Amino acid sequence: MYRQMIILKQGGGEIISGASMKDVPNILWLEEIRKEDISSVGGKGASLGEMASIGLPVPPAFVVTAQAFRRFLVETGLDQKIFKVSDNLDVENNAALEKAADTIKALVMKAKMPAAIKDDIKASYKKMSSRDLIVAVRSSATAEDLPDASFAGQQETYLNIKGEAALLSAVQNCWASLYGARAIYYRAKQGFEEHTVNIAVVIQQLVHSEKAGVMFTSHPISGEPTTIIEGSWGLGEAVVSGSVSPDHYVFDQRTEAITEKTIANKKVEIVPDGSHGTKLVAVDAARQDALVLSDAEVAKLAMYGKIAENHYGVPQDVEWGIVAGTIYILQSRPITTIGKKEATGMSGQSKDAKILLKGQGAAPGTATGKVVIIRDAKDTGAVKEGDILVTRMTNPDMVPAMKKVAAIVTDEGGMTCHAAIVSRELGTPAVVGTKTATQQLKNGQLVTVDGEMGLVYEGAIGGGAAPAKAGGAAPVVVGSAPIITATSVKVNVSIPEAAARAAATGADGVGLLRIEHLILGLNKTPGWYISNHKEEEFVRELYDGIKIVLDAFPGKTVWVRTLDAPTDEFRNMAGGENEPLEHNPMLGWRGIRRDLQSPDQFRLQVEAFKRLWKAGYEHLGVMFPMVSHPDQFTKAKEMMRGWGVDVDNVTLGIMIEIPSSAIMIEDFLQAGIKFASFGTNDLIQYTLAIDRNNENVADMYQPQHPAVLTLIHNAIQKCREYGVECSICGQAGSDPKMAVWLVEHGISSISANIDAIAKIREAVARTEKRIILEAARNRDAE
Ligand code: PEP
Ligand code: MG
Repeated sequence: MYRQMIILKQGGGEIISGASMKDVPNILWLEEIRKEDISSVGGKGASLGEMASIGLPVPPAFVVTAQAFRRFLVETGLDQKIFKVSDNLDVENNAALEKAADTIKALVMKAKMPAAIKDDIKASYKKMSSRDLIVAVRSSATAEDLPDASFAGQQETYLNIKGEAALLSAVQNCWASLYGARAIYYRAKQGFEEHTVNIAVVIQQLVHSEKAGVMFTSHPISGEPTTIIEGSWGLGEAVVSGSVSPDHYVFDQRTEAITEKTIANKKVEIVPDGSHGTKLVAVDAARQDALVLSDAEVAKLAMYGKIAENHYGVPQDVEWGIVAGTIYILQSRPITTIGKKEATGMSGQSKDAKILLKGQGAAPGTATGKVVIIRDAKDTGAVKEGDILVTRMTNPDMVPAMKKVAAIVTDEGGMTCHAAIVSRELGTPAVVGTKTATQQLKNGQLVTVDGEMGLVYEGAIGGGAAPAKAGGAAPVVVGSAPIITATSVKVNVSIPEAAARAAATGADGVGLLRIEHLILGLNKTPGWYISNHKEEEFVRELYDGIKIVLDAFPGKTVWVRTLDAPTDEFRNMAGGENEPLEHNPMLGWRGIRRDLQSPDQFRLQVEAFKRLWKAGYEHLGVMFPMVSHPDQFTKAKEMMRGWGVDVDNVTLGIMIEIPSSAIMIEDFLQAGIKFASFGTNDLIQYTLAIDRNNENVADMYQPQHPAVLTLIHNAIQKCREYGVECSICGQAGSDPKMAVWLVEHGISSISANIDAIAKIREAVARTEKRIILEAARNRDAE
């Protein structure tokens, strides 16, 4: 039987032997699957099957087995053709790797699916529903202990698939995705045999939840039998990502009673967007303060939680959704972290705990987990959900892994380094600049990270925890009036995934969208796209990423910054071998200087902006980074004009990051900038000659150094004279003390990090009121 198939152990993962394939059918229904069937149905399929088998209401699904895939390869003769391409491939040769991946994917896509497999898929789809059901089609890795990021995460998922033809093509697409360049690379590195690697495909009814959320089946810290449920309107993504403050319910399993019920003010929800993707919309007034779950639903969810916990033997972190009164359990996994991505600091319990390391608290929250030390971005495959990622310094290649971990600790860096910026947006606690984390900590060691205080403790300690949600979303106080400030309080965004959380802060717009993070995440340099004639792909990536942010901020200005990645950040990417080696990339070929000398790279960005403006996104403004002379602004503007932009009617501005631009601000104003924004991260380093990422001089990095403040003060005054918006988007703008100073000196807007918006808004409001009050008192005294 298929459950007794021969398994070959190789390179740490399980690979199905070709000889053992015969008896496994092309299709397995969830009800037939157990966790031992991982080699036929992959990790995802096996865990869904296990949940269904214990009676949890999992949305109906079937799996196209790994064996079906293998039959497809053998019957079409593809296996030989693929091996011909993959054998002797030098995976370190990027161009060859990309070419091989493209060739194999094309072979898989072009091959005719054997009739038997096709018929089985079609019949199973029909069996799900007589109507064409909307399904999700997900790749499911078949090598159990091959880490997620290097395997499952690299294969495709297709949502909103409807109809036989679309389904068959999605399955074939999933198969083809087994041969992505990255996937081939990782397999080669991990010692997996290309000849035997397999893939399964899960086809599951798509649940468009009307309400959804998460549940901790027992108290995550004390282990008490109290089930904690959080829920909100729309798809569960809103709760999981922390875009909304959800309702909170506590159910005591001992007394079977609801002991706590807190209604949150639920301003936004995530709903399906046509047949593709999702969108964030405002919740109508009637539902904002309405209870999401009935008592009966809370009790039923808690009962399912109990079933899962009893079955797996450990407390579970469960995702659920409800459609038309039917509860669905979408995922269940062990609770591995305490207070994962919690926004609050440590409780008093940390007093006696042993501090292992000190650094800078770069992203608030606390988390406990096992250390995984990453010395090279290529090894992030070892990172598992809930781990503590420890590395010298993160780089954009590591972002997929950073999304999974409970906390991040680095040797190097300060408050404005890559790790700090990305962690804050992900809501993942982070401590940077510990100097010795990669030497002192050991793989597998249990530690607790306090991202507020910048401390790493031995073992598991901590305060209260709630179901995982990205930190920073302050609890909404029902009934309180929103704080209105005359100084706009905007938010910084670097990764589109953070757009919903950023919008949920109610910020007055986006004062900085760093688009290099869109590109860095793709793992190919702009130069790669240009030299491989994939310009359209590059433009589309930019367009799609920026659009997500624009959509989240309708009617509010979004300042999109043109590319500003130092050459060293491009180095590990495809095409990175062509980046010049620079002794000091911070002072090197980055920002507008590079774009002006690389017209193709600049033109492609402008093309994305043009399309967005044409599509009606008038609230898009463009900001040029690292500008040191007004001529650069004028030249950039003229190049844009040459490419058909109506430059006099779009919003173009600059960042003030180099002292020369602060000193020459009047010339910039005369050159026609529509706004200026202080990039203090750079302005401080260039004014004080302190490398912003160097932990050895971090204590000399002084945002409020008199020289820096003088530059800022003078530039604000000039902008006010010309009636031009003057803003700040550097990290200093997220410090309430600095915000007070800036308001006192007349800044027009402040753009802060997601986690800092609430406190900045409060600091701004207080300062404005104080200024008004003092003026009134002075008038009265006269
Ligand atoms: C800055 O320099 O302050 C800034 C916001 O830009 P970046 O941190 O991306 O250099
Ligand atoms: Mg900068």
